[in-house]
Amino acid sequence: MAEPSERRTDGGGMCGAIRYEAVGEPMVVAHCHCDSCRRHTGAPLVTLVSFEASQVRFTEGSRKIYASSPGVGRAFCGDCGTTLTWESEQRGQSLIEFHIGTLDEPDALPPSLQVFHGERLAWFDTADCLPRYREGRHGTDPYRHTPAELAGLG
Ligand SMILES: [Zn+2]
Repeated sequence: MAEPSERRTDGGGMCGAIRYEAVGEPMVVAHCHCDSCRRHTGAPLVTLVSFEASQVRFTEGSRKIYASSPGVGRAFCGDCGTTLTWESEQRGQSLIEFHIGTLDEPDALPPSLQVFHGERLAWFDTADCLPRYREGRHGTDPYRHTPAELAGLG
């Protein structure tokens, strides 16, 4: 069996009432362009760091969870309003995904792909060649833009 990862990811909201830690490697770090993430945060897209719920511990405070759709909750700090998570218990898997801006060291975990690219705002894209999935990352093949294509997108 592989040695467990020593990585530790700490984070929390703006006011500090809610703090969390996650132990081990995240499953994926992804930009999400879906309409629900946009609505929850008010931002044109979000970047989420995905962990198994068993890797995560909330060390301070208790988050408020808004049930945004069946099996999906979106958490925030009830004091300062910081958007904290996307959470799901579906298909026997329990996931907690943190909005990357709540990490203490977001630079440590760069994204590797983009999901729900088909729902992105028409005026927004990122200048990278990461694989882009029209919807979620399961079930369909991603597509990529080359730098030259990206230059032509504007
Ligand atoms: Zn989303």
